Amino acid sequence: MRALRTARGGTARKDNAPSRPAESSLNSKLAKLGIRTDFDLVLHLPLRYEDETVLTPIDAARHGAPALVEGEVVASDIAFRPRRQLVVQVRDASGVLFARFLNFYPSQARALAPGVRVRLFGEVRPGFFGDEMVHPRYRVLRGPEPLPASLTPVYPTTAGLGQVLLRKLIDEALERADLADTLPEAIRAERRLEPFAPSVLQLHRPSPAVEPTALEARTHPAWRRMKFDELLAQQLSMRMHYRARRAQAAPPLAPRGDLVARLLARLPFKLTRAQVRAWGEIERDLAAAHPMNRLLQGDVGSGKTVVAAAAAVRAVECGWQAAVMAPTEILAEQHHRKFAEWLAPLGLKVAWLAGALPARERRAAIAAVAADEIQVAIGTHALFQEKVEFARLGLAIVDEQHRFGVRQRLALREKGKRSSRPLAKGAAKRSVAEDPSDLIPHQLMMSATPIPRTLSMSYYADLDVSVVDELPPGRKPVITKLVAGSRRDEVVRRIRDACGEGRQAYWVCPLIEESEALELKTALETHARLAAELPGLAVGLVHGRLPQAEKAAVMEAFKAGRIQLLVATTVIEVGVDVPNASLMVVEHAERFGLSQLHQLRGRVGRGADESVCILLYEHPLSDGARTRLKVIYEHTDGFRIAHEDMLLRGPGEYLGARQSGVPLLRFADLVQDEDLVQAARATAELMLDRYPAAATAHVARWLGGRMELMAA
Ligand code: ADP
Ligand code: MG
Repeated sequence: MRALRTARGGTARKDNAPSRPAESSLNSKLAKLGIRTDFDLVLHLPLRYEDETVLTPIDAARHGAPALVEGEVVASDIAFRPRRQLVVQVRDASGVLFARFLNFYPSQARALAPGVRVRLFGEVRPGFFGDEMVHPRYRVLRGPEPLPASLTPVYPTTAGLGQVLLRKLIDEALERADLADTLPEAIRAERRLEPFAPSVLQLHRPSPAVEPTALEARTHPAWRRMKFDELLAQQLSMRMHYRARRAQAAPPLAPRGDLVARLLARLPFKLTRAQVRAWGEIERDLAAAHPMNRLLQGDVGSGKTVVAAAAAVRAVECGWQAAVMAPTEILAEQHHRKFAEWLAPLGLKVAWLAGALPARERRAAIAAVAADEIQVAIGTHALFQEKVEFARLGLAIVDEQHRFGVRQRLALREKGKRSSRPLAKGAAKRSVAEDPSDLIPHQLMMSATPIPRTLSMSYYADLDVSVVDELPPGRKPVITKLVAGSRRDEVVRRIRDACGEGRQAYWVCPLIEESEALELKTALETHARLAAELPGLAVGLVHGRLPQAEKAAVMEAFKAGRIQLLVATTVIEVGVDVPNASLMVVEHAERFGLSQLHQLRGRVGRGADESVCILLYEHPLSDGARTRLKVIYEHTDGFRIAHEDMLLRGPGEYLGARQSGVPLLRFADLVQDEDLVQAARATAELMLDRYPAAATAHVARWLGGRMELMAA
């Protein structure tokens, strides 16, 4: 309380306290601002400030700059030209100023009567009568009144909740709330951070001596403290998840036998250095007696699948089962093809629990998984979550589609919390050699899209991360061409020529976000038109509404070369691997997001032929579309593109966090404050080790009952 007084300079403001609206409507307005608790009010920080700590003589007020002036009303008139308005003339020792009010109440006209002393705050501009302020904030003085000692905060607010009331609520909260520091002194000193209470008080009521640009740019030490605390809360909660998982027991999958060695020896290629490194990290994790929780990320085509396959084989080698979960049936099917190709020769039983399987066969397959007769089972996330029980699940490989990442991962984790063994229910019932009833499986996630480092450091802080940052040798970079839609005919001729030479091509139909039906219609029309334009070619069509079996059949035919041109909606975006396809056309490329374009383009350039990706665009191009096309044209490195994408859209949009309703980072900026992200990460570990009570208090303060902070 004393700190508060000092910070406010001892002069409680006497702005007319507005009568409080009914409690519930006030609460709902506060809720709109995300304010539910006292501490939410404490953390509701100003957008900017107004300096009412000094009076400016009227003749010294600069045009265009806000100023506080004080003087006596010498005239007050309601004018009618050019429109009805209240014109008040104010004089101080230095000069005269006009205040104009285009909207006003009769009470205001009466209050600003000649003879009254007023303070006006606003921007001075040259006006018809002389210098003027239009709609200044004003205050009638009833006696001598000291100026405020601190800058006046302007808070983000919502309709019907005025600054005066909000300021009052925040003042009260600052007095009530516990502002004790949650950071141990030693850490604060080491990180050179300001103490919490003075920081937060200073941000609400800064002294006029504070450098205003440091406040606005949020580089002031008080701001850094807020950002650090916010990031620390995020790191702490993520690392708590991480540690909780590690505290559980998993089957140690240490090297045993020679299955993995045989897998690697049989591959038609040598692993890249990056693959070897990633596999080494995974291998080490698997050998431990606590569950691995690792994210394997790398650019499209960097060869994540084979690394995951090695992990699956290791599990089998040790007598456990592995699950491979894909977000879609097409991807599951594809994983199955790869896994079967690599694992069957080793004598492993791999099952694809396809949605298209006849019910009876599928039941049999699921039963075989439960009976430990199948060693590697592949299917969609949904299938595993609903239907499948494993006899001895040792490893779950989750091929995560970036687009659905945020929500799904949180859901998975929630599920994990409830049962604490989300994927190995069956293991409890059918224990075999060692009693696996307390064991939970290792988890390996794969990300289809590279994640910028700052994001993986914050949002993925509950995982260990392996990066495959190298493409297999001999890849020819895909040539990207930007072509105006008006030259479509040339492009069609080009496809005829390429397919004539035995190559294959994709034609990606326009994305129509507003209407799936319209998108489907367009795909059907595009297919019909191309089939007519290219009479000699086998033109196939694949889209999201196609029944599973047909979809799989079309992909199979394309893979086998029976289809030469595949017309597709974005269902092919992720993971489809047909090396002979070396030409891709994307229609209305300007509608696609950067990562989508990058994923699409990654479908070609997988074989020996030089590959070309033609991005057809239509005018007019928005600025955003122009930038996206420029970035995709200039860059092929997925991490670079991901970074540009994050800069363009902001981390929150990039992650898709905004739609998911999870709380976002409010103060820290993952791009600008990367140093703080790193510091917070290190501090989180230290606090969890040495100051667990402080860590818990910090998370409670910042996150309350919520789960975790997302990147904003
Ligand atoms: P992604 O990381 O996008 O999932 P994939 O695992 O599908 O990439 O690999 C892309 C292609 O590269 C596949 O055809 C795969 O067999 C092949 N591949 C993987 N690793 C290597 C390697 N070290 N050398 C050559 N080709 C490789
Ligand atoms: Mg893949």
